[in-house]
Amino acid sequence: MKKITGNDNPIDLKQARDAAETVRIIDEWQDNTNRLSVLCSRLHQTLDLNAMLDIFAEELTQVVPFAALAYRRSRSGGEFGYLLGSGGPHHCCYNLSLRGQELGSLRLDRRERFREDELMFIEQAIGVLIQPLRNAWLYQQALESAMTDGLTGMGNRRSLDETLEKHVEQAHRYKQPLSLLLLDLDHFKQINDTLGHAAGDEILRLVSERVNAQIRSCDQGFRYGGEEFAIVLPHTGQEAANQVAERLRRALREHPMRYAGRAMAITASIGVAALGDDDDPDELLQATDTALYAAKNSGRDRVRIAGDDTDRVDNAVSL
Ligand code: GH3
Ligand code: MG
Ligand code: MG
Repeated sequence: MKKITGNDNPIDLKQARDAAETVRIIDEWQDNTNRLSVLCSRLHQTLDLNAMLDIFAEELTQVVPFAALAYRRSRSGGEFGYLLGSGGPHHCCYNLSLRGQELGSLRLDRRERFREDELMFIEQAIGVLIQPLRNAWLYQQALESAMTDGLTGMGNRRSLDETLEKHVEQAHRYKQPLSLLLLDLDHFKQINDTLGHAAGDEILRLVSERVNAQIRSCDQGFRYGGEEFAIVLPHTGQEAANQVAERLRRALREHPMRYAGRAMAITASIGVAALGDDDDPDELLQATDTALYAAKNSGRDRVRIAGDDTDRVDNAVSL
């Protein structure tokens, strides 16, 4: 029988463990580095904020599991929020900024405490996210300004076209009512001619504020043309739309606007149309426009419903 003797060169167990740990750390570092470069290339494939945050969450969760990821950013145009999953008692939160520009905050929640190495990876991943995120915001800003009227901050004609397209499609699909108002200021040329273009601009801005103050948050106002405004009223039938139009008309005529210390009576003519069963966006616009012309032709400062010849105004005045 062979006698078991002690090894002449016994393995240094501590050294072996340290070496294994070093290999593990190198492997993990390599994995994480690979993961970060995958993240980087995926993030650069989109300029859409939601898609970008989806990618970030997808890649991050493979290294750092989390229950919820929330991103938000407040801007003058409103708040943008992204939320994936729901929370837990532990969280970590980062304020994101690049070269002094605030880019919102990102928060992760989960049941277990975040470990140091996990926090380090999250920070590295955010380092990768920040530049594509800034690009996505610049793109978003460009998109918004192409859709916004510079004077009033309302959506412009292009934005109206897109919005109508979307709402008409939804209204048909879910068999819901949809109405459109077109509002044209009466004798607006006189304002420019007597008080100057700057006064006209200020009045247009004040009108946009008044329109926005009169509509629900799900309704949307647009500057459709020079002194013309459009209001899209989702889930609204003809009679309710007529009431909104009347309220708007009165809000203008009964509260004169002030410019350079002077009160000015501003009135508007408004056309109203509800979406018909087979109408496309152009047909709805056309019907509303025809109603607006009827309102103008029957004396101004009044509301006309498409296809209705009745003059519903009780206190119309002509300027
Ligand atoms: P009506 O009652 O028939 O609508 O008469 P109106 O004078 O309002 O209509 P018209 O189409 O004759 O003139 C529209 C005026 O709106 C002429 C134009 O100078 C003015 N306008 C259009 N866009 C702007 C703008 O951005 N700023 C200013 N200040 N005026 C504008
Ligand atoms: Mg006009
Ligand atoms: Mg006009």
